[in-house]
Amino acid sequence: MNSDRDVIVIGAGHNGLACAAYLARAGRKVLVVEAAAAVGGAAATAEFAPGYSVSACAHLCHQLNPRVIEELALVRHGLRWAATGLDTIALSATGRHLRIAAGGASVSGAGVSAGDTAALADFDARMKRFARLLVPLLDQRPPRLADSDWRDKLALARLGWSLRRMGRTDMQEFLRIAAINIHDVLEETFEHPLLKGAIGLDAVLGTHMGPRSPNTVLSYLYRLSGACTSRAVGIALPRGGMAAVSGALAGAAQAHGAEIRTGTRVARILVEHDRISGVELAGGEILRAGTVVSNADPRTTFFGLLGAGRLEAGFARYVKNIRMRGTAAKLHLALDRLPAFNGLEPASMGNRLLIAPTLSYVERAFDHAKYREYSPAPVMEIVIPTLNDSSLAPPGKHVLSAIVQYAPYDLRSGWEQAGEQYRDRLIDTLAQHAPDIRDCIIAAQVLTPVDIERRFGMTGGHWHHGELALDQFLMLRPAPGAAQYATPLPGLYLCGAGAHPGGGVMGSVGRNAAGAILSGAA
Ligand SMILES: Cc1cc2nc3c(=O)[nH]c(=O)nc-3n(C[C@H](O)[C@H](O)[C@H](O)COP(=O)(O)OP(=O)(O)OC[C@H]3O[C@@H](n4cnc5c(N)ncnc54)[C@H](O)[C@@H]3O)c2cc1C
Repeated sequence: MNSDRDVIVIGAGHNGLACAAYLARAGRKVLVVEAAAAVGGAAATAEFAPGYSVSACAHLCHQLNPRVIEELALVRHGLRWAATGLDTIALSATGRHLRIAAGGASVSGAGVSAGDTAALADFDARMKRFARLLVPLLDQRPPRLADSDWRDKLALARLGWSLRRMGRTDMQEFLRIAAINIHDVLEETFEHPLLKGAIGLDAVLGTHMGPRSPNTVLSYLYRLSGACTSRAVGIALPRGGMAAVSGALAGAAQAHGAEIRTGTRVARILVEHDRISGVELAGGEILRAGTVVSNADPRTTFFGLLGAGRLEAGFARYVKNIRMRGTAAKLHLALDRLPAFNGLEPASMGNRLLIAPTLSYVERAFDHAKYREYSPAPVMEIVIPTLNDSSLAPPGKHVLSAIVQYAPYDLRSGWEQAGEQYRDRLIDTLAQHAPDIRDCIIAAQVLTPVDIERRFGMTGGHWHHGELALDQFLMLRPAPGAAQYATPLPGLYLCGAGAHPGGGVMGSVGRNAAGAILSGAA
């Protein structure tokens, strides 16, 4: 290949940056091309009103891979935490909240029984034992079942051994709950509705699923795997918002010699003699390299950039059928002063606040999304980051960031139409908990899944670039034939959330993809 670079990475999302950093660290000459004006993709900070900034999409770190932090020296490259080990407060409109302490094993608050307290400690320990089974699988390329080499066989043997070591009781319980859903598991374990609602929300956040949907035990364990590895950090706020994570990853990549070009959209992936030869930019410029790694989601990569005509029909069908219908929206508020939440002292408001009062409330909110309506009574994960990080707003002022479900990508009435009405509905929901919030608002921004798709280039605005479910997990993610980061086109690889293990600000996909490329195994 006549080129002064070895690898082009399409997209400077945090996974693209992680992949570039590992490849550059190993001596590859890497160029990252990013369509947006700034790096980070959905892990970014943006000003949404003059002087008020917020994590523009992802807002809490709870899964960032500690190996990525250490191996890429992210602290040396500027990553700082504004707060770590946040508690979760399950809000009640009457002010009788529950507080789940950092780590997730203990709960306090009005009406919590001794039975629930003991059950949570037991449940948390058991679920973490199960989640720990996933951890080694998330940190490596998924093992192949057919045509497996010694690495695949070793990974499968390790999994089998870990399952066996769990003992008969745990193994039976694992197999039993994996086949039901988080709703049933929580109903049989706890009494307090707020506790069930909060854990149920954790299982469905970012997915097109309600607590009664199949796969919700898997999605809960996936989330919990972060709690098993994040050590002291727990649920954390990066200082300066999520751009701090991406900025540190970009710093690491550049320190190892990678070049990053922002504001540079790739229009096409180029193929010559049945292998990858580079990319063509939107302006027509051709950039050559023998290896192209795509951080864009699988549908964008294969259909938008490569072209379905280059794919074998069966593989194209898999890609077409990937479920990637986003349901998470964002609400950002610039606040003149701190609103008063019913029964919540200001010192607690810097934690993670949830509106998910019962499992039925969450399930009913999901019901609307099934029929392409938004939930009139939405669930929310809320943070007021300025209570821990004054850099995001003028002195004495605040910003509020909320992830809101369920807001279906393909809303029947269209999002243009729903716009203001939807924003009012979200603020009304907040006002049930913080009655003076309307008086505090200086500016508001709502990002629907359609906005998220446009702004961050994620098809369907989907959190994981493709639903996280058993039929789209491990060696099936994103599709058979591309599940180990290599694709059917020699020289083309995937490194975005649509690949194994999935979404969330983890850096694991980028790390695993680089490992597969470097080992030549992919
Ligand atoms: C509403 C919402 C809230 C979320 N909240 C959280 C949270 O609190 N915590 C958490 O851990 N996770 C959260 N997530 C999930 C998390 O943000 C994503 O899973 C993660 O950021 C994906 O990272 P990525 O690098 O794989 O892909 P992306 O961040 O999507 O990056 C892909 C990059 O590729 C670029 N690109 C695409 N096409 C082209 C092209 N043709 N040319 C050049 N560049 C291109 C895009 O511009 C983008 O920068 C949330 C997701 C959503 C939607």
